[in-house]
Amino acid sequence: MESIFNYTEDELLELLINNGFKKYNKDQIIDWIYKKKVYDFDMMSNLSKNLIGFLKERFEIKLLTIETFEGSIDTKKYLLKLEDGNKIECVLMFHDYGKSLCVSTEVGCNMGCAFCESGRLKKVRNLSTSEMVLELLTIENDINSRIDNIVVMGIGEPFDNYENFEKFISILTNPKMVELGSRKITVSTCGLVPKIYEFADMKTQVNLAISLHAPSDELRDKLMPINKRYKINELIEAIKYYIAKTNRRVTIEYIMIKNVNDSVKCAQELVRLLKGMLVYVNIIPYNETENNDFKRSDNVQIKEFYDILINSGINATIRREMGSGVSAACGQLRAKSYKEEL
Ligand code: SAH
Repeated sequence: MESIFNYTEDELLELLINNGFKKYNKDQIIDWIYKKKVYDFDMMSNLSKNLIGFLKERFEIKLLTIETFEGSIDTKKYLLKLEDGNKIECVLMFHDYGKSLCVSTEVGCNMGCAFCESGRLKKVRNLSTSEMVLELLTIENDINSRIDNIVVMGIGEPFDNYENFEKFISILTNPKMVELGSRKITVSTCGLVPKIYEFADMKTQVNLAISLHAPSDELRDKLMPINKRYKINELIEAIKYYIAKTNRRVTIEYIMIKNVNDSVKCAQELVRLLKGMLVYVNIIPYNETENNDFKRSDNVQIKEFYDILINSGINATIRREMGSGVSAACGQLRAKSYKEEL
């Protein structure tokens, strides 16, 4: 059976009309689900028996199962079980500006970045729109409170699952549905250039973050296989197009790996690359995992890198590290769970 959380407002309307129901039924159903948070068709007391019967026959309306979680003072990391038994991660972060949820978009990932834990487990399948929506609703239900921000930075490459991702955004931002402001959402991509153009043409206010991590093709080729397909200059062109279309500032993510991409020369190359663009660089101390030899850059090195950017007029911040006690590096909890099962 299909999940009702796959349906955008328009899709639900079309289905209901095609089956002889009324336009206002769509609003009633959406209100029960997204505003009253009732996940049982039988409880939707203003719907006709006939409509409830139709919905029950057609749709599943279940939250996801929380398999395990690990918590620390500022993060709670969840392992969620999907209907088919696959497991995904999402991470709840408590910031001073509110609660953020980092959601996954795929089971595994095919991008194969050398430093990334998620990619060690190859992509099994895309997440459906409903599964992405349900990450949010399941966690909100668990903590009995609303999430303020969504970062699409969990396992998977959102632009490699573009259609479902796009519908997810539509459900999140629809005032009748989740009702989250576009500016409260950030999507991160490793750089699927054609999709960046598509995303720009959507003209939403959703924030875009780019996992750059290296200032030259020579280095980026080694770290991120996607760079063999789309070179840095093509990526920069796409980012410029996005900025021109939306007038939104883009986040450039740059993880700091010791003796790999953290040199003064790298910082200077990065300055040359980004000079004059409406971007800011989010410097992210690498989160070490036991499955590769990459090390986190020293704080002195990180500060030096940061200073070079700032002194050259490039906006930058150093990301506060969160949840290091809780298998926080992307994909760690999931990888651990699969290991325990084997
Ligand atoms: N596929 C998307 C989103 C998922 S990854 C993307 O590539 O942007 C979210 C971010 O975490 C990416 O910038 C990724 O490069 C980074 N990342 C992966 N492993 C990491 C690690 N061990 N430490 C710090 N950041 C990591």
